[in-house]
Amino acid sequence: MKYKASEILQFVEENDVKFIRLAFCDVYGHQKNIAIMPDELPRAFETGISFAASAVEGFMNVKESDLFLIPDPSTLTVLPWRPSHGRVVRFFCDIRHPDGTPFAGDGRQLLKQAVAELNALGLTCQVGTECEFYLFELDEKGNPTSIPQDRAGYCDIAPLDRGENVRREICLTLEEMGIKPESSHHEHGPGQNEVDFRYSDALTAADNVIHFESVVKTIANRNGLCASFMPKPLADAWGSGLHINLSLFRDGVNIFRTDGYSHNQEAESFIAGILDRICEITLFLNPITNSYRRLGNSEAPGYISWSHQNRSQLIRIPATVGERSRMELRSPDLACNPYLAFTLLIKAGLEGIREHKKLPAPLNLDLFTASEEELQTLQKLPRSLKEALDAAVKSTFLQQVMPEKIRSFYLKAKKEQWKQFKEAEDKQELEHRLYFI
Ligand code: GLU
Ligand code: MG
Ligand code: MG
Repeated sequence: MKYKASEILQFVEENDVKFIRLAFCDVYGHQKNIAIMPDELPRAFETGISFAASAVEGFMNVKESDLFLIPDPSTLTVLPWRPSHGRVVRFFCDIRHPDGTPFAGDGRQLLKQAVAELNALGLTCQVGTECEFYLFELDEKGNPTSIPQDRAGYCDIAPLDRGENVRREICLTLEEMGIKPESSHHEHGPGQNEVDFRYSDALTAADNVIHFESVVKTIANRNGLCASFMPKPLADAWGSGLHINLSLFRDGVNIFRTDGYSHNQEAESFIAGILDRICEITLFLNPITNSYRRLGNSEAPGYISWSHQNRSQLIRIPATVGERSRMELRSPDLACNPYLAFTLLIKAGLEGIREHKKLPAPLNLDLFTASEEELQTLQKLPRSLKEALDAAVKSTFLQQVMPEKIRSFYLKAKKEQWKQFKEAEDKQELEHRLYFI
């Protein structure tokens, strides 16, 4: 559903809408919202609705604590799980300063700018996501447990697969919201599921990831389950990734179209740009300590390499033809802020195009079964939050492409998270030693 601002008031009136949620994300990609009553909507479009930015992660700045939410009319969606009398609708918002200038910490704004840079080169970008998650049982008090909902595996069917009704509800709800999931299945892990999206422009794809997360959490909860996007919730089972499929179009033609195994030069440079900067931006693609328990295991990449259909690589170019030709980046996870993640990927790819970067030869090696010697020659993705943080701190690329406020807040916060993680780990180790040794 796409509406213009002028059509929204009529829609609200005719559809018994009583609550209008103005949604935005903090720097980590966590969705926040303020609900306004319909009478406030004209004011929201004209001047915006203020909120206390000093209380939002990554926006904190007491000197500029008032920011304004301006609903983006093209993002109107009815929340189908809320009552049909006195409906609830949601908009994603642009965030502005009181003088109307865009707030630099707004991820949607950053992504729009990155897309505009691509457009200035005559290119458009399409993004399709593959989203994995686990369903866990709740205990009698309604708190999450670590007991997976079923013991099914890849593409299993009911009754082994107990997720089919939840996936059905998720997909139908998304459709009702005007979002197009393309397919869904049971994944490898017990209780692990996946929903894949049809490609769309980068901003819509990022908005859809945020929609998707709230739909999955809500539907799971209504079914007496807890949905988790944690990258590696169970130590001995598969992790959950966010595979990002990217394609570029020039004059309506997908430049990722392959002719056998040869590629368009710009498409190759775009991939080369991402490979070049991947270590520096991994902190934003895999932002939590748990992210690094996933990388390098169970078909999640651990090395910086690309290939054609080989799923063990960081980037693969799947065997598709025509308009669906694309590259698939397999390292990110759903703990990321999709607006920042897509922005950084586009910026890295753009740098590749501008500098005519050369794509190294594909690595035609199964990295899951390769020998120690074969692996030794390859460059690794960061193996811990600390390694990713060190690469991000040193990165001049991040300094150039990310507003200083977000960059410094994010790096400081991640440094603190690593410190707390290490302290907890050290404490645990000490307690263990004191007891057993
Ligand atoms: N679950 C794997 C990951 O962590 C990916 C499995 C797949 O190829 O879909 O990325
Ligand atoms: Mg999968
Ligand atoms: Mg995939």
